[in-house]
Amino acid sequence: MDRASEEQIRENYKRVCEKIEAAKAKRDPKMGDVTLLCATKTVPAEEILFAINELGLGCVGENKVQEFLQKYDALRGTVPLHIIGHLQTNKVKSIVGKADMIQSVDSERLAAEISKRSLEAGVVTDVLCEINIGKEENKGGVMPEKCDELVSYMETLPGIRVRGLMTMAPVCEKNDEYKKYFDKTYSIYLDILQNKSHNIIESVLSMGMSDSFEAAIECGATMVRVGSSVFGSRIYPQHG
Ligand SMILES: *Cc1c(COP(=O)(O)O)cnc(C)c1O
Repeated sequence: MDRASEEQIRENYKRVCEKIEAAKAKRDPKMGDVTLLCATKTVPAEEILFAINELGLGCVGENKVQEFLQKYDALRGTVPLHIIGHLQTNKVKSIVGKADMIQSVDSERLAAEISKRSLEAGVVTDVLCEINIGKEENKGGVMPEKCDELVSYMETLPGIRVRGLMTMAPVCEKNDEYKKYFDKTYSIYLDILQNKSHNIIESVLSMGMSDSFEAAIECGATMVRVGSSVFGSRIYPQHG
């Protein structure tokens, strides 16, 4: 890794942290703290390790199981490693016990498989329920009106621990449009936390990416997932 890219990542990371602090100052302090997760698809392990060791990055998220596993040996034991992308049931077995959290759980079938494989591996896996707040077709996440029901089901499974919600908002032109979706997600999140039949502790609300993390924080996110604003824009492969 050359000096120039190190300096670029260092500068980007600092700018994102400053923006996080500024957005936090604009919200209700009761909303708590914000964790920065870096979404690291296509980023080499070396650059991720630089951000962890030199910049203090505290959490990493991968989209694809294969890429997660490729980087796992280099990253294990450093910071929590999350799965944030769509997960197929047949891939669950290979990451249980390795992923510290799976943020993209959006069906009973997937939740049941994670629970089953976790029990086999002797672990309990932290998960978030992914919600499709824009009700977009061809997008992961449970429909907003089904979220409470899915969380209830997930809480019956002994191999997983539900920690909260995750969402990917539709792409919007303006911050105000994002806020509409994030406000909605925050209100569902509060309803779920306040529902006495649930028992969610150390709760997480994961929302906001490079173009929307400040809006998400103002609306109550406790975790933002930022990729390109730290590591630069990349050409994402279509398949693989
Ligand atoms: C890529 C990705 C992000 C980060 O997106 P950027 O626009 O690069 O910040 C966040 N969440 C998920 C699920 C992603 O796939």
